[in-house]
Amino acid sequence: MINFHTMKRLLPSTIILSLLLLLGSCTVQQLSYTQKTYQNTQKSDETVQVQYTLPVVKPAAKTTQEQTKGGVTISVEVLSFSAHLMEEEEENVAYKIPAQDDYDVFEIRKTPYYRVSPENIRFKIRIRNREDVPLKLSEVGFALIIDGTQWSFPSTHLEEWNKGLILSGFEKEYFVDGPQLDGLVNAQVVYLFLNGVPVSYDKAGNVTEKKNFEWFFECSSTEVTKEEEVHYEYVSRPIHKERCHKCTGTGKDPQLYKCDKCAGNGAYISKIDGKTYKCSKCDGTGKIQVTCDHCKGTGVLEYPKSTLPPVDQSITWNGWKVTVSTIPKGASIKIVDPETGVYTAAPYNTPVITPWYYTGTDKRPIIIEYNGQTAKILPYHEGAPSARVVVDFSSGTPVVTRGELVAE
Ligand SMILES: [Zn+2]
Ligand SMILES: [Zn+2]
Repeated sequence: MINFHTMKRLLPSTIILSLLLLLGSCTVQQLSYTQKTYQNTQKSDETVQVQYTLPVVKPAAKTTQEQTKGGVTISVEVLSFSAHLMEEEEENVAYKIPAQDDYDVFEIRKTPYYRVSPENIRFKIRIRNREDVPLKLSEVGFALIIDGTQWSFPSTHLEEWNKGLILSGFEKEYFVDGPQLDGLVNAQVVYLFLNGVPVSYDKAGNVTEKKNFEWFFECSSTEVTKEEEVHYEYVSRPIHKERCHKCTGTGKDPQLYKCDKCAGNGAYISKIDGKTYKCSKCDGTGKIQVTCDHCKGTGVLEYPKSTLPPVDQSITWNGWKVTVSTIPKGASIKIVDPETGVYTAAPYNTPVITPWYYTGTDKRPIIIEYNGQTAKILPYHEGAPSARVVVDFSSGTPVVTRGELVAE
């Protein structure tokens, strides 16, 4: 029944910069930059079908709602049922938001449902007493029969009824709770029986006649389906942190360890002059303090609940620092910004700039423009990475004296 249409959006990426120093050329410093895009795991609201059963209890055709016997008139009706939209909240740990390192994220799913009220079948009983004697309801038998089986009232359900006293010439309303709806929906006939209602008295006030009153109701139910929304909310809460109990927040292991330089002696004998020197590492104590291994020296223990979402895309950019020289000076230089993959201006007077290459195959040249001339150059010299490119614009056509010109 639940109709998920989950959306996948891309979150702004988190970027991890790592430095890789390698390559034969001693002048080229290889750099690598990994740009990660994470899946959006946060859900959008979704439409769901919500079903509920609405009971309908109607007087049967043979039943008259208002009945008069002797001096007593009684009417019975069943309160109608209505459905109310409710929401059930469920909270679960969700994925971290990549840019929010110090926070856990929680998903709150709000699921709609309907509550039907009242929860029990409720009878509204209206009694009018035109006799000269007060009518005591405790003397009247009250029975409710559902599909031929007598329903036994929990004691509280008839409390008001049993206290009932209707004075001569007065009318009163009573509410009596019957069974819960679950038991009712499948029931076909509800029979309400008032047994031995005094309807006539002699002059001394003694009852001379008692009558029974009865009502029949037919139960049915309607299945209702409605379209409602499941709502998702995401809340960020700071990761729970505690002071490290091992080092009491100092970041240092409280225990002292034997100094490894002087083997705990506090001093050593020089091999050169044979004299004894105080150990500088432990300042002659023979003991040293080390970083707390429990908190890695931070003094704080963290208890994160959220983890990073699955990686959607991972792009590695490679490049190295390059000095661009032009003749004459004052050219504009553009290089790819590895955070966005878009060409951006590099400040000319910076001695080094960094061109970026997308995973080695898709090379993005440095674009150098001067006075309407454009040169796209890869920083290679004789096939090897070069830390310098030189372009001469003075003839009116760019002449690359160092670097590889990329054809338009
Ligand atoms: Zn030492
Ligand atoms: Zn610690």
